[in-house]
Amino acid sequence: MIEIDKVSKWYGDFQVLADCSTQVARGDVVVVCGPSGSGKSTLIKTVNGLESVQQGVIRVDRVLVTDRKTDLPKLRAKIGMVFQNFELFPHLSVRENLTLAQVKVLGRSKGEAIARGLAYLDRVGLLAQQDKFPSQLSGGQQQRVAIARALAMDPVAMLFDEPTSALDPEMIGEVLEVMVGLAQDGMTMMVVTHEMGFARKVADRIVFMDHGRIVEDTLKEQFFSAPRSERAREFLAKII
Ligand code: ADP
Ligand code: MG
Repeated sequence: MIEIDKVSKWYGDFQVLADCSTQVARGDVVVVCGPSGSGKSTLIKTVNGLESVQQGVIRVDRVLVTDRKTDLPKLRAKIGMVFQNFELFPHLSVRENLTLAQVKVLGRSKGEAIARGLAYLDRVGLLAQQDKFPSQLSGGQQQRVAIARALAMDPVAMLFDEPTSALDPEMIGEVLEVMVGLAQDGMTMMVVTHEMGFARKVADRIVFMDHGRIVEDTLKEQFFSAPRSERAREFLAKII
């Protein structure tokens, strides 16, 4: 579903991604981890074209993201993305947050968009909050709304960039629970996270990055029992 092939990117002289290659098969969950500044956010943003690359090829659902002729807004509508800071529209109610892009981007009727949006809101356990504004919700609730909003677009894959790292500890569990459910339902997911409990539970593979390189891309079992690189061993020792 997601194919990243020999991707490199520079900011001026600084190489932020160096010859990165990995794939996410349909229904698979790949967790991306590594030290701060290693290029995780940049890599995941290249998948939906939020970051351009100077070398290499990226495909999502066989569409070439890295082709200048590709209609990126149309492609992005098929790829759900959830960020660290929720990024809900602050001036819109939860219900309006859930429906806006369905109507504007997918051309759904208001009625259909509301029905779908509320179905996903129910799924993340927040149906009763539909009339509230984001500022009236906790961080964990806002992130669950952001996930529901992405799902309402019927994405072929979901990208998560540290979705729990801005949350108070007591709210991390409720967001991870939604993500575990998604993974178990067969959603194709690429997840930047340091939540190794989540990774152990649902990841198929772990990608470990360091200094812009994919240092390891291994099955979960191998990563946790016997990481190949010294850097990954050090990293695991620090966070577990
Ligand atoms: P991570 O998500 O692993 O913490 P990032 O992908 O955010 O890493 O950043 C990787 C490196 O690229 C960091 O050293 C960061 O400072 C640098 N970087 C990120 N965005 C820019 C930018 N717009 N211009 C210059 N350097 C950047
Ligand atoms: Mg990051």
